[in-house]
Amino acid sequence: MSEIDVVKGLRIVRERIQAASKNRGPELREVQPRLVAVSKTKPKELIIKAYEYGQRNFGENYVQELVDKGHDTEIIEKCSDIKWHFIGRLQRNKVSKVVSVPGLYLVETVDSDKLATALDAAWAKQKGETAKLKVMAQINTSGEEEKNGCTPEEAIQLVKHIVDKCPNLELVGLMTIGKFGYDLSKGPNPDFICLKNVRDQVCQALGTGSNRLELSMGMSDDFEHAIEMGSTNVRVGSSIFGHREKLSAAHIDSVSEGTKNVSVS
Ligand SMILES: *Cc1c(COP(=O)(O)O)cnc(C)c1O
Repeated sequence: MSEIDVVKGLRIVRERIQAASKNRGPELREVQPRLVAVSKTKPKELIIKAYEYGQRNFGENYVQELVDKGHDTEIIEKCSDIKWHFIGRLQRNKVSKVVSVPGLYLVETVDSDKLATALDAAWAKQKGETAKLKVMAQINTSGEEEKNGCTPEEAIQLVKHIVDKCPNLELVGLMTIGKFGYDLSKGPNPDFICLKNVRDQVCQALGTGSNRLELSMGMSDDFEHAIEMGSTNVRVGSSIFGHREKLSAAHIDSVSEGTKNVSVS
């Protein structure tokens, strides 16, 4: 029954993306935003089902889960054209695990020079410098302590480092998570405005046109608004795959008798 839900969830999200795309300014109307189906904590059966329904881009934000799913023989066999996006916190000692994943398409969460350099080296080793690895710079637009990403002020330095010093990486855009629970009745989301402004500054510094860099912003609660604001890459989990428990709750579950009803899927 959950299989039907995924197809229905995907269909509805796609329709909402289409509708939101029509509300964009003329300069963006031709750009079809990419839907990244965020499958973290969800079983491979649902990924395969979504793939069979035409979904190609999937997002994971725990390294080990990406590694397990990315190397899963059934997924490799049935989803030969899958495109994995890594959207979680990445530590430098884990980069070789991430780049080993077949089907790795885009690392959205590069937030420091050191991480970029480590990814650059790991990718060269993995792929022998034949193709570049697509990356985005993650910007902490809300200034919240617990969010990753470089500050908006550090963005130019970071993108220049990627472009000038990391020959095996291709910078394709900027990504933000932003504050949860922003009340849209207060007007356009300041995180999305901030990311757009950072893109303008960064593109000017790089000497390229603003539309050369993508914007990864928008999740289940606000992807339509993000698209209207110019997002080219929305990361949608629960609206497709249903509600999920936090992994930490699930881990607690495995050691605690009292909360047996909490489960990952
Ligand atoms: C989990 C996650 C999402 C998807 O969140 P939903 O609210 O379930 O759509 C998007 N981006 C990142 C970075 C995430 O960790």
